[in-house]
Amino acid sequence: MSNPGHSEIKKFMNGLVKRNPHEPEFHQAVREVVESLMPFVMEHQHYRDAQVLERMTEPDRIVSFRVTWEDDQGCIRVNRAYRVQFNNSIGPYKGGLRFHPTVTQSVLKFLGFEQVLKNSLTGLPMGGAKGGANFNPKGKSDREVMRFCQSLMTELQRHIGEDTDVPAGDIGVGAREISYLFGQYKRLENRFTGILTGKGLAFGGSLVRKEATGYGCIYFCENMLNQCGDSLQGKTVAVSGSGNVALYAIEKAQDLGAKVVSASDSSGSIHDPDGIDPEKLDFLKELKEVHRARIHEYTERYPGASFHAGERPWGIPVDVALPCATQNEISEEDAKRLLDNGVQSVCEGANMPTVLAGAKRFVDAKILYGPAKAVNAGGVAVSGLEQSQNALRLLWSRNEVDTKLQTIMQDIHKKCLEYGRNGDSVNYVTGANIAGFIKVADAMVAYGAV
Ligand code: NDP
Repeated sequence: MSNPGHSEIKKFMNGLVKRNPHEPEFHQAVREVVESLMPFVMEHQHYRDAQVLERMTEPDRIVSFRVTWEDDQGCIRVNRAYRVQFNNSIGPYKGGLRFHPTVTQSVLKFLGFEQVLKNSLTGLPMGGAKGGANFNPKGKSDREVMRFCQSLMTELQRHIGEDTDVPAGDIGVGAREISYLFGQYKRLENRFTGILTGKGLAFGGSLVRKEATGYGCIYFCENMLNQCGDSLQGKTVAVSGSGNVALYAIEKAQDLGAKVVSASDSSGSIHDPDGIDPEKLDFLKELKEVHRARIHEYTERYPGASFHAGERPWGIPVDVALPCATQNEISEEDAKRLLDNGVQSVCEGANMPTVLAGAKRFVDAKILYGPAKAVNAGGVAVSGLEQSQNALRLLWSRNEVDTKLQTIMQDIHKKCLEYGRNGDSVNYVTGANIAGFIKVADAMVAYGAV
């Protein structure tokens, strides 16, 4: 490796792995950041003297607790939940809750760490956190999900607050779960306050929050393409996932004239060579958001499309790839296939969807590779706008919120250019990491040894 901080990175990572054993996702997220940040930190002695990287990679606190609930058969069930409050140097903790059987402390630490830098990039005063539980909402009745959410909030309410920590949704936590969580918080506290974001419009939610991460991902992608005198118009796009981020990324990509040819879920992917048009997208939304059904049903309705069990869509030749499902869903082999097929841009709607070796291939190939912390920051940005509206007791129009979102994504793109320019190309990974780091690091240095 030609990186000037190579031995420093090695030393730093050895220490981190020793202090945080058995946490591969957390190691991966920190390594990606430290590899691009270390040379910058080495050039700025005051960050080194203040041990900023060491402090930034140690969460402020982690709360872990038991969630006991009763299923529809009257059996007692037990899950484990967490809230990782990573860093509140620039604002109250903010970050989603994930309900998925794969949730572990390592996964939430990786997400919380990323969230700190992402929230800083938005320019809004938000610290970083993440939480969730190893609970699987799939196959559970609404009543079971409600009892689980109520039990979880009964403990979580001790640790959150509108000026302390404001959670939101993530994988497995959508409008239904946020509503149950908010209802229980309100009951316990006897206060109506903006304690969660992603709320329903009837009780303090923001217009465009549901669409924000997917739309923001496309705005960022369009900014990258515009930078090279190009646009999404006429591009062929592969999307993975069919959840909140994926559905609204597909919608905005369509709006901007792209042809989206895939979507997926944990059972496999669909390939629709004719493109997912608005009518097909409505069907997909109904299938996933209302019926919570499996994606192969799309091909029963639209026989021109094919279903590929257990496969991800990265073998399809496309101009743009948008991973919008989960972490490590683009392997090194997938990255190579995308590049061999001439992909021009990869924009990460999901968090850490590309393994380190795959990300390195994208950077080395100098394609337009947008890392998650920049690309998917639109979700938390509109969450921040939801908090502002709650504090002001106002509801901004759809157009107002969407315009603010577009401006925020444009600003993030500019910051990436400022710190990521490398000759005639842009390393968006380095740009996003440094731009996100500076504000948090400056606040930490200013506070002294805390
Ligand atoms: P959803 O739960 O709405 O959707 C997740 C999608 O990914 C579903 O299609 C799901 O399939 C699929 N998926 C989940 N786990 C796996 C897996 N292990 N293998 C294959 N497919 C999988 O979540 P979101 O859309 O909210 O989140 C998607 C990603 O975006 C996550 O990485 C999240 O952290 C990130 N993100 C989300 C934000 C938001 O505002 N929601 C903000 C910023 C980032 P199935 O239905 O079969 O489980």
